[in-house]
Amino acid sequence: MLDPLSVAIPIGEPTNRIVAPRRPMLVPTDKVDEYTWEIDYSAISRFMECPRAGENRIIRAREAAKEQVATNFGRLFHQLEEKRLRYGLNDEVKKQQQDKIDEHFNIFPVPPDEYRTGSRMLDVITKYNEIHATDQYPEKVLVIDGQPFVERPFKLELCTIEINAQIPYDASLLLPQREDDYLHQPLYVSKIHVVYVGKIDTSLLDATGLWVVDSKTSSRGGREFEEAFRLSLQTRGYVWAMKRIVEESLRDKVMGLIMNAVIIRPLTKTGTGTTFSRHTYFYSDDSIQEWEDNMKAIISDFLAHMQRGFFPQHARSFMSPCAHCDYNENCPLPRNQRATDLASPLYRDVTWNPMYE
Ligand code: SF4
Repeated sequence: MLDPLSVAIPIGEPTNRIVAPRRPMLVPTDKVDEYTWEIDYSAISRFMECPRAGENRIIRAREAAKEQVATNFGRLFHQLEEKRLRYGLNDEVKKQQQDKIDEHFNIFPVPPDEYRTGSRMLDVITKYNEIHATDQYPEKVLVIDGQPFVERPFKLELCTIEINAQIPYDASLLLPQREDDYLHQPLYVSKIHVVYVGKIDTSLLDATGLWVVDSKTSSRGGREFEEAFRLSLQTRGYVWAMKRIVEESLRDKVMGLIMNAVIIRPLTKTGTGTTFSRHTYFYSDDSIQEWEDNMKAIISDFLAHMQRGFFPQHARSFMSPCAHCDYNENCPLPRNQRATDLASPLYRDVTWNPMYE
């Protein structure tokens, strides 16, 4: 049984970009032909959008080598809010937030026409701190083992799937790099132990129950955004995890999600363009159990595609995922050129791992 919080959490501030190792799909266990697959929502959601994108992201472990300005901006907001939640809002924390913004944009500079700049973030966090000055979140943060439950990674066993077949992919794609010929042949797999990994922004405990809080910075707000989190597999997955992380006496107190939304658009002539809102979603036990059933089925589907050795392109005419897809220059190429293209500097190894970032 895994300890769901048994992850060394890196302490200290990055002084430069972190270059993490490539994240292979499978890791050998101490049993012959059995492997562990640590899967997170971000990765499996690519497969949910388009199987081919899932293959490129998870099996081939390649993503577009481009700056992710919106993602970086969102991560920075999380780091600033983390300080408030851990220590409460005071002058020292505000100073640390400012320093963090400066440091971030030194490491991740943005192009001149980008609106998600350092000064914009300073404006956002200043307004956010004012609006939520009396929310008492820092006092309500759940404490586990003496540690505030803030930006906590987790890993939880989800299921074991029997394969008992040779996978028609070169083992060098699927496994950690090794200097021997073993990797240059299809991989025989008997079982895959699927472990669900992720990171929870924070959890609050008060008289109304225990809540997972997820902060989202987005340029898209409104009804569509709010509706999405009634059923979101990402946030229901956090609540599923929370119910397994807390001690038994707290399990029934886990109510659902508070969505902490920060909608940031290009500034208008009147200087507005940022809105803040919080939305509460109750997730029933049945909804959480159905999350688990959904996720197991999606994982099984992924592995069935993998056994077949073919992930179809879900390129639709309207509302197509292709427009914003990392691989929209790769998919139109002749098939015999795609692997070479993916190996080119236009793409980089997938290294992101919620355990370490
Ligand atoms: S470009 Fe379209 S078809 Fe190709 S992987 Fe992306 S979403 Fe799928």
